[in-house]
Amino acid sequence: MTDCLFCRISRGEIPAAKVAENDECLAFRDISPQAPVHVLVIPKKHYASLNEVPADEFRVVARMQDMAREVAVSEGIAATGYRSVINTGDEGGQTVSHLHLHLLGGRHMKWPPG
Ligand code: AMP
Ligand code: ZN
Repeated sequence: MTDCLFCRISRGEIPAAKVAENDECLAFRDISPQAPVHVLVIPKKHYASLNEVPADEFRVVARMQDMAREVAVSEGIAATGYRSVINTGDEGGQTVSHLHLHLLGGRHMKWPPG
């Protein structure tokens, strides 16, 4: 999508602090971190939200989670623990309409989230 913020980051048109990349996914630091480690993992292909991923392409979500797990290791939070979350839609707290997974760690997470 031409005007999508995360598509533009994926294409390198907007700078981001990248921490991991492969053929399908990209991980970069959240611009407004909510924890000592706050990384976003996105698919390079545009999906507006989790709701828009066709069943036969759902494997991309596993690739995102796999990258989050790798970044947890490289960021040193795999052993201490972390949270990976996908906000979907307005009431889910989604503000950017390109599927993304938040990886948060480096502090004790509260439950339930606000
Ligand atoms: P969500 O509210 O789940 O849609 O998450 C969107 C996230 O994108 C927020 O945590 C924002 O801080 C983050 N964000 C917005 N713009 C940028 C940007 N240019 N680079 C990195 N992260 C961003
Ligand atoms: Zn997009």
